[in-house]
Amino acid sequence: MHRVLTKERLKSKPFVEPMPHVVILGAGASKQAFLKGDRNGMLVPLMNELPMILGDKWKKLVQDASPPEGDFESQFSWLKRDKDYASQLLEVEEILERYFEELQLPDHPTIYDYLVLGLRGKDIIATFNWDPFLIQAHKRNNDVAELPDIRFLHGCVAFATCDKHDILGMPSEICPKCNQLLSKGRLFFPDEDKDYASDELIQRDWKVVTDSLERAFHLTIFGYAGPATDYKARKLILDGWECAPMRPGRHLEIIDIANKDILRNNWADYIPFHHDMITPDFWSSTIARWPRRTAEYKISASKFGIPSECLGPFITNTLKELQDWFSELN
Ligand SMILES: [Zn+2]
Repeated sequence: MHRVLTKERLKSKPFVEPMPHVVILGAGASKQAFLKGDRNGMLVPLMNELPMILGDKWKKLVQDASPPEGDFESQFSWLKRDKDYASQLLEVEEILERYFEELQLPDHPTIYDYLVLGLRGKDIIATFNWDPFLIQAHKRNNDVAELPDIRFLHGCVAFATCDKHDILGMPSEICPKCNQLLSKGRLFFPDEDKDYASDELIQRDWKVVTDSLERAFHLTIFGYAGPATDYKARKLILDGWECAPMRPGRHLEIIDIANKDILRNNWADYIPFHHDMITPDFWSSTIARWPRRTAEYKISASKFGIPSECLGPFITNTLKELQDWFSELN
């Protein structure tokens, strides 16, 4: 007789398991979630699509300064080293910030709703994206179930917090602990010498994420390319992940449309025993198939060799239906 962890068992008996599932989001995640744009059809750009949003402003700057051929990140980072371009880069940053501020979730369920509902309070989603989708999804699903912690590794246009208290809030909200107006964090733009320690609020989020990685049973990297300009970020993630307790059973899960060999090569240091799970789309990821039970699935499989029946994805076009389905999966 084959042993299997049944749907009913998974639903009714979550493990009392404190180890977190850590999920890292990059621009590819927002791209996959909004292939046809946001609520109003606004393009949700990848890094190399930012010049399209900046239009002539960027074109002219690149013409005048002629940085070495390369993508947006490497050129921006090159320009940043020269003080002469400081005021023009500031304008570029302001245009991008205003653009991302306007983005909105549509009324129907999105991958971001499945992401925040698909993980539990012990888990954590950390995003490199400036867009407001993660925090908007967190806010609209907050009453449905206990949601994962969310953190912003390069800042976020819709995130505000208290200098003294670790509060997840939005601009113009008040800290529930000290009644001070929450302050908006700054965005981190491409820079080879990015210093996360230079900003207290960013550093606070990084610390929570690296601490979680040290206790994690599972790491999912969704649509994050880990560009060269982020070498400090890559190192921080790797340092945390190398301490994770389930060493022999450790898998890196990658959700990305890029070629598998390129991905394996890019993240080789993070895949110590050649254990990887690479999927091009979110719907076949562990979070979509075992929502709120990724630990149960993973630990049963890795430790005891027992497979689990799939719980999801529950596909619907109505947010209310999705929330009702999730409200029974505590
Ligand atoms: Zn406060």
